[in-house]
Amino acid sequence: MAELNLILLGPPGAGKGTQGERLTADGGLEYVVTGNILRAAVKEGTELGVQAKAYMDAGDLVPDELVIGLILERVRSEEAHDGFVLDGFPRNVAQGEALDAALAELGRDLTGVLYFDVPDEEIVRRLSGRRVSQTGRIYHVEFDPPKADGVCDVDGSPLIQRDDDKPETIRKRLAVYHEQTEPLVAYYEQRGLLHRFDGTKPPQEVEAHLRKTVSTLRLEDAV
Ligand code: ADP
Ligand code: AMP
Repeated sequence: MAELNLILLGPPGAGKGTQGERLTADGGLEYVVTGNILRAAVKEGTELGVQAKAYMDAGDLVPDELVIGLILERVRSEEAHDGFVLDGFPRNVAQGEALDAALAELGRDLTGVLYFDVPDEEIVRRLSGRRVSQTGRIYHVEFDPPKADGVCDVDGSPLIQRDDDKPETIRKRLAVYHEQTEPLVAYYEQRGLLHRFDGTKPPQEVEAHLRKTVSTLRLEDAV
């Protein structure tokens, strides 16, 4: 089977994690969630975590020197040999260029960039109501509530609100997205790699549309 190397692109709260969990649930593709890796480092108090924390709390991007090597290591890993799904990386053009260079060195190509289009007002509603479990499983108090209030359906752990999902930080993250990450839409569109999705649709509809596109990409890659 041909490898599938995918990027999930879109503003914070667009539904990348919700859909990434679904697309990779069968374990065939290595799922690399940059935000989760950084939050784990902060929690463990590693050198990376100590350096990254202030940027994350402020809603800024963590510097490229800390992030690029970390993610490219995962792309080069044995686990990503049959393909990967990158969530939260690249987040600026320099990161996109670093990924291109690493893939070229490996003799591999990007298969596609799945872009979730969601307007800012909707993002604010989504992030304000987002709750996450200890393992990073994603819920929404209104749009995707757990079966029992405040606890994860899967492991029963208490759900928490991320520190950076508070209103002031949400606005900052959106500004950072428009300024630094959005240029990647044109970057990939010019190369014919961009696939747009209406991220305002309910999760099941977005998932169905994504799966259709991913199946087509698999078929195209196989011929
Ligand atoms: P991202 O990974 O892009 O930051 P998430 O997947 O964490 O976004 O989604 C942000 C919030 O929006 C979560 O609370 C999630 O439950 C909710 N959500 C995700 N997709 C949808 C959707 N299609 N419709 C409504 N709410 C959604
Ligand atoms: P996320 O979980 O994707 O919303 O990311 C949470 C935070 O982690 C961001 O606001 C950034 O501070 C940091 N972060 C995640 N991915 C990156 C990246 N590719 N480059 C720099 N910082 C990142």
